[in-house]
Amino acid sequence: MHIGKRAIVIGAGIGGLSAARSLVGSFEEILVFEREVLTNVIAPRAGIPQGRHPHSLLPGGTQALSELFDNFPMKLRNAGAKVTDYAKRMRFEFPGQRALPEREVGIDIHICTRPLVESVVRRCVERYEDIVILDGRRVTELLSSADHLAVDGVRCETRNGTVETFAADLVVDASSRGELTLEFLKRSGRSQPRETTIGVDYNYATSIVEFPDGPPDELTILTFPNAPTSTRMGVLVKREDDRFFVTLCGRGVDSPPNEWEAFVEFASTLPTDSLYRALRQAKLHGKIVQFAFQESRRRHLDEVEKWPRGLIAVADAVCRFNPVHAQGMTVAAKEAVILNDLLAARWGCADPLAGLMEEWMFRINPLIDNVWGLAALPDLAFPDARGQRPPDLDEALEYQRQLIEAAVLDHGIHSLFLEVIGLITPADALRTPEVVDRVRRLTGKSGAPGKTAPNHLLI
Ligand SMILES: Cc1cc2nc3c(=O)[nH]c(=O)nc-3n(C[C@H](O)[C@H](O)[C@H](O)COP(=O)(O)OP(=O)(O)OC[C@H]3O[C@@H](n4cnc5c(N)ncnc54)[C@H](O)[C@@H]3O)c2cc1C
Repeated sequence: MHIGKRAIVIGAGIGGLSAARSLVGSFEEILVFEREVLTNVIAPRAGIPQGRHPHSLLPGGTQALSELFDNFPMKLRNAGAKVTDYAKRMRFEFPGQRALPEREVGIDIHICTRPLVESVVRRCVERYEDIVILDGRRVTELLSSADHLAVDGVRCETRNGTVETFAADLVVDASSRGELTLEFLKRSGRSQPRETTIGVDYNYATSIVEFPDGPPDELTILTFPNAPTSTRMGVLVKREDDRFFVTLCGRGVDSPPNEWEAFVEFASTLPTDSLYRALRQAKLHGKIVQFAFQESRRRHLDEVEKWPRGLIAVADAVCRFNPVHAQGMTVAAKEAVILNDLLAARWGCADPLAGLMEEWMFRINPLIDNVWGLAALPDLAFPDARGQRPPDLDEALEYQRQLIEAAVLDHGIHSLFLEVIGLITPADALRTPEVVDRVRRLTGKSGAPGKTAPNHLLI
């Protein structure tokens, strides 16, 4: 049952495409505006510069996309994604600990590039006749109702400069930056949302490599930084074209180089030598590309008074996570599942769009709390990270170390740990008295998850 005639989604990234799917059935027509001209070529595109860097779709993301699109994992595999058990051919290396061992934990992870994920999602979306993707059209402004109480459409510009306006009952800002929303709030005399940030200043450099003498056994090697003494980390991950991405990261003034020999040298300074050994057998394909990420940013849109009717924001436009934790696409897909359920529950209501933003934020806040907290803990381990620290951060970090030690020793903890970082299960599952007790018995240490840290980190 429709609750409105037309919905407009700004942006055909992962957030916009999955949100468009969740609007099906609730609106007669769904228009997705994308500033870029889209093609069927599976390759990084200008509007998504991060697409040149590895993107892991966490198991929780695949699960959410499967709820939105029939047979999504199969479609991903048919398009070339590799699939493996989350604890097999995946080497997680935490400093000062043994790498997590190879085991079967019964959780699949699909490994491929970001452009491949997006292209499969877009093909799924294109099957819905109620959704029309209007590419090559940049939205330039959100339109206001005469009484300024609502957003009732958008203005956009085509590639040849033609300006068009479209009316809508609902506009979904999935533009990643969310600037049109901020600009509308300002223009209509509303306050700007409060933001919580964690400054991390990560510098990425990514190479695509081949292994002429045969590839490594692993599909992924993840070497985490030795906080707080060393800030360097790296990842090797297989691509669908059978090449591998190798990404190296540094923080602040420490930037991995874009020149091959210096890049390999940088890898030799990581906490373990796994990536360095692999890189010495590798041949560079193309150029090394760099990316800088300053801060994670969460916008408290629910605190803005008199939020305009007919407008919501999704995915990175609400909360942008530190990419080293690989959470953004999964959160976008999980939000779309929530949106789908929330809208369906409003079918048949007298005024189904009333208070939509308030309920939307209320429903997604627990998801964002969980993911923000998971990322904040390791991010704040670095003394130069900018952000509010809980008084028992050290206690929480020590418990984190013990958890990993226990995961090495114990199948159950290993599996639960991967469920949590794979965004299948909320992090609270790692802090129950039973799990804390098991971690203590396995490690012989008396760690505790910290009393305020997990909650404090959500602010
Ligand atoms: C270096 C890096 C690595 C990352 N690695 C991972 C990872 O491993 N796993 C993971 O899950 N996430 C990762 N992320 C995060 C992930 O890229 C984002 O969270 C995700 O893409 C957010 O989706 P989105 O739809 O909000 O934005 P985007 O995917 O950026 O899409 C926004 C879209 O809106 C369009 N657009 C913008 N403005 C307009 C306008 N005015 N009119 C019309 N169209 C417009 C853009 O062209 C674009 O297509 C990484 C991010 C970075 C920076």
